Amino acid sequence: MKAAILEKINSPLTVGDVALTELSFGQVLVKVLVSGICGAQLQEIAGNKNNAKYIPHLLGHEGCGLVEDVGVGVTKVKKGDKVVMHWRKGDGIESDFPTYIFKGKTMRSGKITTFSEYSIVSENRITSVPQDISNEFCALLGCGMSTALGVVENEADLKIGESVMVVGLGGLGANLINAASIRRAYPIIGVDIHDNKKEICESLKGHLFINCKKESIKDVLNEKFGVKNVDIIIDTSGNKKSIEETIPLLSGSGRYILIGQLAPGESVELSNAEHLFNGEGKVIKATQGGKFSPSVDIPRYVKLYKAGILKIDNIITHRMKLDQINDAIDLVRKGQAGRIIINI
Ligand SMILES: [Zn+2]
Repeated sequence: MKAAILEKINSPLTVGDVALTELSFGQVLVKVLVSGICGAQLQEIAGNKNNAKYIPHLLGHEGCGLVEDVGVGVTKVKKGDKVVMHWRKGDGIESDFPTYIFKGKTMRSGKITTFSEYSIVSENRITSVPQDISNEFCALLGCGMSTALGVVENEADLKIGESVMVVGLGGLGANLINAASIRRAYPIIGVDIHDNKKEICESLKGHLFINCKKESIKDVLNEKFGVKNVDIIIDTSGNKKSIEETIPLLSGSGRYILIGQLAPGESVELSNAEHLFNGEGKVIKATQGGKFSPSVDIPRYVKLYKAGILKIDNIITHRMKLDQINDAIDLVRKGQAGRIIINI
């Protein structure tokens, strides 16, 4: 079968042939229909996830697929089920690491991967959904959308009417604007360095877009809303400069959530750090997937989708094929895309 393989750190993926091995206890074979691309894969390609020792290996951690076969012990899904492929652990067995054959050698992979025609996954990394929900929505539930909803709900504990700023409007950032809107935040401010993100921000009901390369965030906020601070700031960029510029904008009970990962060894300086003690005690925290709990949260999100409340319109900016995966990754790297869907 065809798969995209990371053979060398900081290099394009190889789209080549990989053979499947027999399923072991708790493993499921999934025919992958669509996959998203997440910033985490850029970090893996750069070797920033302590992953250099595992190459060659497979990538991808949000997808939608159909169950093709199940290994011994699997009870959660059966052949033909449509499933969300997610990296956070849900119910079910935590299997051994799946293996494949690549260039005549055994290749170990993560417990969830999605950049391939078929994928062997651990039972606890998939969750069944109704057949009639869209494949793209199903894929976004694997990471981007679920992380965004989890960050807003679990990490930020957003109250109706609180202000939210999202820094970095890639796929996750677009999902965060959407999540803040569903949760009735006001105002919702999107920040990016590319003007084409203004349209994405506004279409997802963000109230203000600021190009932080051209304008001072602080000055625009003051001019447009007469406000000096923001209740919840979520950074997806991992950019030192924008983190340093926005931390001082936190309100007295503000929560600053870091999603984007700084480059290894990089530091952030907190200038005038005494402002952190103004008010009720501000919070700066890093999140792992917004504490998204697949078995509990996916059924709730499917219900909202079926009711027309949760939408994916305007979040997906590109649809590409597995053969074009390196072009797709370049678009994510350049910050020019919202979510990109790979049709496998
Ligand atoms: Zn992700």
